[in-house]
Amino acid sequence: MDQVDVSSLVEDLRAKGIDVIRVSYPDLIGVDRGRDVLIDELQSVMGHGIAFCRAVYHTTPMGDVVPVQGGIESGLPDISARPDLTTLTNLPWEPGAAWCLADTSVLGGLAAEESPREVARRVSAKLSELGVSAVIGPELEFYLLEPDSSSPTGWSRYADQPGNVYVVGRKGDPRGMLLTMLRNMRDASLQVTAANHEFSPGQFEINLNHSDLLDAADRAFRMKSAVQEIARHEGMLATFMAKPFNEEGGSGFHLHISLVDADGTNVFGDPAGVDGLSATGRAAIAGVLAHAPALAAILNPTINSYKRFGPDTLAPWLIDWGLDNRSAMVRIPPERGGAARMEVRLGDATANPYLAMAAVSAAIYLGVRDTLEPAAPLEGYGYDPESAPMLPQSLPEALDALEADTALAEVLGEFFVNSFLTYKRNEVERFSRFVTDWEFREYAYHL
Ligand code: GLU
Ligand code: MG
Ligand code: MG
Repeated sequence: MDQVDVSSLVEDLRAKGIDVIRVSYPDLIGVDRGRDVLIDELQSVMGHGIAFCRAVYHTTPMGDVVPVQGGIESGLPDISARPDLTTLTNLPWEPGAAWCLADTSVLGGLAAEESPREVARRVSAKLSELGVSAVIGPELEFYLLEPDSSSPTGWSRYADQPGNVYVVGRKGDPRGMLLTMLRNMRDASLQVTAANHEFSPGQFEINLNHSDLLDAADRAFRMKSAVQEIARHEGMLATFMAKPFNEEGGSGFHLHISLVDADGTNVFGDPAGVDGLSATGRAAIAGVLAHAPALAAILNPTINSYKRFGPDTLAPWLIDWGLDNRSAMVRIPPERGGAARMEVRLGDATANPYLAMAAVSAAIYLGVRDTLEPAAPLEGYGYDPESAPMLPQSLPEALDALEADTALAEVLGEFFVNSFLTYKRNEVERFSRFVTDWEFREYAYHL
């Protein structure tokens, strides 16, 4: 957008009573970082960007900087965040403010190679070399928590009563949080479609419309930010943690993915193909299955993530696929034609939306490029360990699988994969040194 456009944009915003733009971007692990910028500064910000220390990309949720390549050993240089004004939307829960995403670049103007938006663009370009693009509809689950001084964490589940799944209205949501979220997100142009109570007490799900990889990732990233922000406005905590409670289900991040050709025609399905799927669709499924151990590192990126997997959980446990089968890692929903698609149920809600969608799309790219063929689909119960290979059982195992999957790393970008591995191995190392409550309970009393 040129200078003239920016000044008329500023005039328009002023006329709507907007005086601030929140500029945000995802760091490596998907945390929203950024600055609130007065619109009087927009013209100059569009010229030179907003400077941040590159360390912000590799800072843990606890605030420690992880030494990845290009970070501390290079003297913690700047990165510059330049607003992408095509993403400018309302920010309904902060009256007077608008919201814009940014792209980050290193000195010299090159995109930061590990920038999640850049990783998503890189994979989209690879898919288009094959004449296809991914259309992705994300679904995210999360828990809402209320302050509780008697709880060891300081929080306990909102509306904590059993049997709430798909219960509508105030019975399962006494403060009407879902309606508030749905309407606010619609007004922020996030193209949400629906919201419902999930299986566990205090657990909810919000679905987003489908669109291309970058746009779907932008909206899922903003949706997570919106859920957290709107909850905070109500004094609540929204958590996307994969498995926050021992006794309750985890929170998934399901991706509904189809492939379209250059004309926008669905090429995932084929009425004449086996199970109504095209050869391309089957190869795409096979790519996701073949690269699943490495995908887990990105779609299940925390130590806690692996506690969500397990038999009889509706989360996956094995590397398998099935026709309308929710116990499989990849479900093929019953619709065909324009809606023919797969539902990748692997990811949990802690995944960085850009990286999750880029990684699955990279595996699809490899499956189609290498004309892979999937094993027979699962029938019936999907948790028989004899029937299919098992997903990684821990984050270190998944990180080793990612390191070994050089084909996937080539599509995602090696610098990015190395940064991600370094960051996550540092997390594993920090955890291995940390004494947990479980250890005290298990070892303190009788040994
Ligand atoms: N909560 C489940 C998961 O972790 C999914 C439940 C559902 O199918 O909606 O993936
Ligand atoms: Mg669900
Ligand atoms: Mg689903």
